[in-house]
Amino acid sequence: MVVFEGKSTGRVAVARLMRGSDLLQGIQSLAEKVGFRAATVQFIGALSKAVVQILDQDTKQYISHAVPGPVEVVSGTGNVSQKDGVPFAHVHVALAGLDGKCVGGHVGSGTEVYLIELVLSELSTEPPLVRKPDAEIGVAVWK
Ligand code: ZN
Repeated sequence: MVVFEGKSTGRVAVARLMRGSDLLQGIQSLAEKVGFRAATVQFIGALSKAVVQILDQDTKQYISHAVPGPVEVVSGTGNVSQKDGVPFAHVHVALAGLDGKCVGGHVGSGTEVYLIELVLSELSTEPPLVRKPDAEIGVAVWK
C-alpha cells in the first residue's frame, strides 16, 4: 500500500465545460487555472462522443472503444495529479445511450463535451500525488 496523507481540507472549484471541448483537456485546464496540483473529480452531463478504454492486464495495453453520441454521463469520477510536472486527469465514466443501455471505462482523448458540470476538490497530501510509469502495472501510477 502506498499512502499519501491529507494535510488539510482543500479548496473547491466548480465549472461548466464548454460544448465541443475535450473532456480530459478541460479538466486539466481547470486544475491548472485554479492552481490545484491534485484533486478529486466528480461530474455529470452529456457528451457528443466518447472514447472509453479498458486496460488489458496481460498486454498492458488499453483497448479503446469509440462510443458514438449522444450519451448521458450517468457517473463521472476520477482524480488529477501531477505527471511530468503538469496536471494529469485520470477519469472513469458510465455512459448511457439513447436506448438507456450503459457502457463505461477509462476516458480516452477525443471525448467531446456537450454539457458537463464538474466539481474539483483540491487534495493536499504529503508526499504530493505524482504519477510515474510502473512497468509491473503497465501504466503511470502514484509513487
Ligand atoms: Zn483508468
